Amino acid sequence: MFPIAQNLKDVRAAIAAAAHRARRDPGSVRLVAVSKTVDLSLIRAAVDAGQDLFGENYLQEARDKIAVLGRPVSWHLVGHLQSNKAREAVALFDLIHAVDRLKLARALDAAAARQGKVQDVLIQVNQAGEATKSGVDPAAAPALLQEVARLPHLRVLGLMTMPPWFPDPEAARPYFQALRALQDHLRGLTGLPLTELSMGMSGDFAVAVEEGSTLVRVGTAIFGSRG
Ligand SMILES: *Cc1c(COP(=O)(O)O)cnc(C)c1O
Repeated sequence: MFPIAQNLKDVRAAIAAAAHRARRDPGSVRLVAVSKTVDLSLIRAAVDAGQDLFGENYLQEARDKIAVLGRPVSWHLVGHLQSNKAREAVALFDLIHAVDRLKLARALDAAAARQGKVQDVLIQVNQAGEATKSGVDPAAAPALLQEVARLPHLRVLGLMTMPPWFPDPEAARPYFQALRALQDHLRGLTGLPLTELSMGMSGDFAVAVEEGSTLVRVGTAIFGSRG
């Protein structure tokens, strides 16, 4: 079997096993194949192996790939986004994972209004307060969510986080638990459904699924190292 197909099979099996351990329906977890810097031929191999959801970080790169591969597959923006790129992001992506400030949310709302679209978004939370990572401080998340929820052309589906990197995936578990707890708190506070939790990458997606992830963002475990 082509390595990409085998890798996908292994990742899906690991997701299903983690879901079963947590008594969750494996169908409640979607696999976002993060294809930043990955060659078109490898993405095609993933599509051929049945993968229908991809995550990208860079607009220019995503635009070129989407132009070729089109929309039989779904595209998510998983990385940081500048407000001045909102128009293009709204044109390209079904879900934007990393909304972390009101200025960006307003730019996305305005772009979506012009494009006649309601844009699905997640709020990115920076739980460890890492200066190198984007994301709203957990304490500021309720206020941001309430502002964003008022924007008529955005629909907030849930939260996203990227914990610090640890060699042992177990060390990420408290961050995943904290994100889920924050989501439960925000659901109670706002009455919004908030069904999506974007958490877990190649090194720790199984732990994230055990803790309630609905969107795992996996790159290297599918496509190999980005070099
Ligand atoms: C690159 C990236 C991923 C995938 O990381 P891997 O460790 O290769 O699985 C997930 N989420 C975000 C936001 C990324 O930038």
